[in-house]
Amino acid sequence: MKFGGTSMAGTERIRRVANIVRKQQAGGNEVAVVVSAMAGETDRLVNFAREANALHDPAEYDVVVASGEQVTSGLLALTLQSLGCKARSWLGWQLPVRTIEAHAKARIDAIDGDALAAAMGRGEIAVIPGFQGVSEEGRITTMGRGGSDTSAVAVAAAIGADRCDIYTDVDGVYTTDPRIVAKARKLKAVTYEEMLELASVGAKVLQTRSVGLAMKEGVRVQVLSSFVGDDAVPADDIPGTLIVSEDEMNELVEKGEMERQHVTGIAHDKNEAKIILTRVPDKPGAVAHIFEPLAAASINVDMIIQNVGRDKGETDVTFTVPQADLARAQALLEDKRDEIGFNRIITDSRIAKISVVGVGMKSHAGVASTMFRALSDRGINIQAISTSEIKVSVMIDEDETELAVRVLHTAYGLDAEDEAA
Ligand code: ADP
Ligand code: ASP
Ligand code: MG
Repeated sequence: MKFGGTSMAGTERIRRVANIVRKQQAGGNEVAVVVSAMAGETDRLVNFAREANALHDPAEYDVVVASGEQVTSGLLALTLQSLGCKARSWLGWQLPVRTIEAHAKARIDAIDGDALAAAMGRGEIAVIPGFQGVSEEGRITTMGRGGSDTSAVAVAAAIGADRCDIYTDVDGVYTTDPRIVAKARKLKAVTYEEMLELASVGAKVLQTRSVGLAMKEGVRVQVLSSFVGDDAVPADDIPGTLIVSEDEMNELVEKGEMERQHVTGIAHDKNEAKIILTRVPDKPGAVAHIFEPLAAASINVDMIIQNVGRDKGETDVTFTVPQADLARAQALLEDKRDEIGFNRIITDSRIAKISVVGVGMKSHAGVASTMFRALSDRGINIQAISTSEIKVSVMIDEDETELAVRVLHTAYGLDAEDEAA
């Protein structure tokens, strides 16, 4: 069981969580619980680290930001004990959750599930702070924002759990962010592949890595709400959204429990920025000169378009990078101006990426054209396009994000029926 920030925000909320956990155990289950820091706490800690030193040492940044989860894991263990349950916390370095790669974006390498399983077998509820681990050098690491989802899936895999329930502030995965589109529909199930794509293009309900890990390890994941009353449907009856394999999805469709749609969901991402390099020489090697320094600096480039060459053997190259890396990318490119040979560098962070995702696209034509028509009918200009087998993304003006998501949700027939007032 994993509980996110809003579920852990304060004593009262934690008491509700403890009750949900206790009930799950009383139903005859052994449980491990992964918790996030209280809502807003990680942002607060990140700001402290920035204020202390803008060029922070990532290892010390991790020491600061990992602390939010230490607090909530201890508080949940205390609350469970107050309800008469046996419970203890297992910090990242105690379990241990071994991680590799860089601080602030560490990856889980291994979790030894034996000690946990033994404690659980004795009837003890294991409470584990999400987001944190320990490096090969024995230092505290964190796994990137939203990383508690990945901690939970990794723990579930390590102990061979029957299921990993991700409790959050919405009751499942919807066709799009239900906070933006009131007519978003809850999905009974979604495939790993689609969820991975949706998460990677901005549906923050699950961290992308957690979905990739669940797919690789075959962990059954359910997304459901912790904001429920005592009479709620038990988690074992799957009131939320189950992440399933394509085979399972086909079975659900055959049984009539799921409808086959060309588009499963729509996501948006406002965290990218656009860079345009004008008058780049239109010759072999030119784009390599642009992207090599960015790759060397671990800056992820997403959408790329190269315009048709001009008469003089020159072209404009447009691409996107994470907003957080924009300043660094710009400085790197300025440094290489002579080598690349561009004329001007133009940047814009007021852009958004809107993506439509669905495995149905593999076999159905026309998904992209529906998108372009629907956006143009509302006067929304498309600045760039990129596609994968099961996704089409467009770059638009940030101010038009909400409108675009709503328009597309309707265009693909995803709107929920009006419920009687
Ligand atoms: P937690 O703190 O529990 O980890 P998050 O804020 O990380 O919660 O994720 C839950 C939020 O994800 C929801 O409140 C919702 O606004 C957002 N969200 C974005 N896209 C979707 C979607 N397709 N389905 C459900 N929620 C979504
Ligand atoms: N507390 C961390 C964050 O806010 C990890 C998480 O909640 O998943 O990013
Ligand atoms: Mg989250």
